[in-house]
Amino acid sequence: MLVQVALPVPLYRVFDYRLPADMSALPNASIPKIGTRVEVSFGRQTLIGIVIAHISEADSSVPLNKLKPINKCLDVDPILDDSMLKLANWLARYYHYPLGDVLAVILPSLVRQGKPLDLLITHWRILPHVTDDDFRANAKKQKQQFDMLKLHGERGASEDILLLEGMQREFLKTLEDKGLIERYIESKQAPSPVKLAKMPLDLNAEQQRAVDAIIAAHEAKRYTGILLNGITGSGKTEVYLQAMQAVLEAGKQVLILVPEIGLTPQTRARFASRFAAHIVLLHSGMNNTHRLQGWQDCRTGHAQIIIGTRSALLYHFANLGLIVVDEAHDGSYKQQDTLRYHAADVALYRGFQHNIPVVLGTATPSLEHLKLVDEGKLVEYQLLTRPGNANPATMQLIDARLQSTHQQTTDDGARYDTGLTDTLIGAIRQTLEAGDQVLIFLNRRGYAPVLLCKACGWQADCPRCDAHLTVHYNNQAQHSHSYLKCHHCDWQAYIPAVCPDCGSQNLDAKGMGTTRLSENLHAIFANPQTSKDLYPIIQIDRDTTRLKNSWENIYQRINEGKPAILVGTQMVAKGHHFPNVTLVCLPNADRGFLSADFRSPEHTAQLMVQVAGRAGRGDKAGRVLIQTLQPDNELLLKLVKDGYLSFARELLQERKMMGLPPYSYAALIRCEGKTMAATTKALKDAIDILPTAHNLAVLGPIDAPMSKKNSRYHAQLLLLAKDRQQLHRVLNQWWQLATALPSAKYLKLTLDIDPIGW
Ligand code: ADP
Ligand code: ZN
Ligand code: ZN
Repeated sequence: MLVQVALPVPLYRVFDYRLPADMSALPNASIPKIGTRVEVSFGRQTLIGIVIAHISEADSSVPLNKLKPINKCLDVDPILDDSMLKLANWLARYYHYPLGDVLAVILPSLVRQGKPLDLLITHWRILPHVTDDDFRANAKKQKQQFDMLKLHGERGASEDILLLEGMQREFLKTLEDKGLIERYIESKQAPSPVKLAKMPLDLNAEQQRAVDAIIAAHEAKRYTGILLNGITGSGKTEVYLQAMQAVLEAGKQVLILVPEIGLTPQTRARFASRFAAHIVLLHSGMNNTHRLQGWQDCRTGHAQIIIGTRSALLYHFANLGLIVVDEAHDGSYKQQDTLRYHAADVALYRGFQHNIPVVLGTATPSLEHLKLVDEGKLVEYQLLTRPGNANPATMQLIDARLQSTHQQTTDDGARYDTGLTDTLIGAIRQTLEAGDQVLIFLNRRGYAPVLLCKACGWQADCPRCDAHLTVHYNNQAQHSHSYLKCHHCDWQAYIPAVCPDCGSQNLDAKGMGTTRLSENLHAIFANPQTSKDLYPIIQIDRDTTRLKNSWENIYQRINEGKPAILVGTQMVAKGHHFPNVTLVCLPNADRGFLSADFRSPEHTAQLMVQVAGRAGRGDKAGRVLIQTLQPDNELLLKLVKDGYLSFARELLQERKMMGLPPYSYAALIRCEGKTMAATTKALKDAIDILPTAHNLAVLGPIDAPMSKKNSRYHAQLLLLAKDRQQLHRVLNQWWQLATALPSAKYLKLTLDIDPIGW
């Protein structure tokens, strides 16, 4: 008997190993089970792989005397069950990615490194008799650290969580020595059955139909893909919650996927306030220990509700009963490197695998999902109203050609453009004076996107990318800490005092980012005497939320509900609930309708509708103002007049006529190297060896949209097929040969199935 092992090496094959001569070296002295980890020699390295099959010697292409024995087996029982191995195989086939590498993506790094699965995690808790009086008045720091632990209640918290929160290891030790706190290892007990912590709301008829459908599929143990197409604020979450209840009460796990940024404590709170259950969060910010702990909780069934980003879908679950993909249209569900999977597609596959319902919830369904509805592969449930008194916000265009944007004057008399029309400023003022909040959406962080010499036209460009450097001012008002930064490779530079080309001092930051807009708003709305803000201006982007807890602090400030101006990038579009925002302004969001990328109108509209959906979620009505230089744009008018769904239906019709995805199937090959010539050559050679009569449209090679990035050059090649099977047939024959071409050596060649941009 031999074992076949998948190893984390970029080769499209598995490897045969024989058993060691001394079988007593193996657990139970028996052949390693399928799905267990084994350590083997591979060339000169030692690697850890997964046993994926048992085969007879006759079935191996390698003669027995050439085969190496496995060194050791790390698990008695499989760490991946049959369904996980099937999932891995499917991913490897569908995305044309080596099986061993797929498994490396699936498994937490500590598992890949061969660590034992039952990690012992140190917890700390306060001893029962200890009170605040046990502290001397001058032991302030100790008391403060003690209070941090106290927040976690009787059971305390794990050491790594405490350290993350800012607790210092030395103080833990001190407090322990003083007999105030103790460490313990938390033992895992089977979780108690999920209990309802709060009564469900009365559903409206639309919600009820959707909940009934999900529960029916769950009870019948039948795979059903459901598109829950509900306008923003229509109560999709309540549908999830009530469907979940039935699944949880049946003792099954529920997986909820959310886009990257939504993982604030608020997301957890929404579910924790309804259910007393063991809730596990899985996201990219976890350290390795936490990831392993989460992974274990999922596969042992300890985790009852799992809330996670994209990669949570690749976890192993003991008894999954329902998958919810919230904001299913979101681009962050597509992984953009290594295994380029789309979480919504994988969710449907897993639902099918486990015979369970999968709910794709969104206010702005992607065209792919609308097409699946047309084909009967998804069942659509619409929620067209907001519960209670809340009405969806009305959208209105402001023609920025008719009135120039508002000018301000600086202290030294210079005039500058605020980028906002008087109509918009008036509406903002009116909203603030009524005691409400305003959200202004600008999808560009930093101060300004370009630094320009007004004398000769020089622009500050990144030396490593085909991109302008963004102007950043950190200390607002004084601009004391200013620098240039590339948003693609993080290159930084000082702002030159004079133009490096012509020596002119006439350098100008051109265009507007969130920092500049916030400054302009300050100039418009601050008290002119004291120059103090009358209303807080809260900037929400990756720069202001980078630090730990900063997003939570911002969130709290907003939800105090006092009048304020929020200035945000697309971070604010994703599912947040700001009940006091009644006005949403989009000063230039419609530019995406002019882009050359055929997907841009779809994505622009989704973003605009999502941002607009932040208005009027409380009891008050909401307004959305779109300031535009192209008020006759047909797409924009369609969206504003008829809403997202008719807009999307029209785009879908267009795609059909033009034979573009989702009516054709795409594979994008990207090639990255030190020169453009080399990358293009490799792709040309690859085209030459395409199977004859391949029946695909071949577009390229062309320079990638940003052909130079981080000093590397990118070219790309697009294959389009009318039929999915046909595309995969060609790739099966061709892709591995293409990567092995002599001209592809030293280059990075990657394949993206169902790419979302090119
Ligand atoms: P969505 O996720 O569709 O944007 P939410 O789930 O956030 O919308 O719901 C918007 C608001 O409506 C929430 O405050 C929620 O509590 C409330 N809500 C949802 N369903 C009902 C209902 N059936 N009756 C009353 N209020 C509801
Ligand atoms: Zn110049
Ligand atoms: Zn750069």
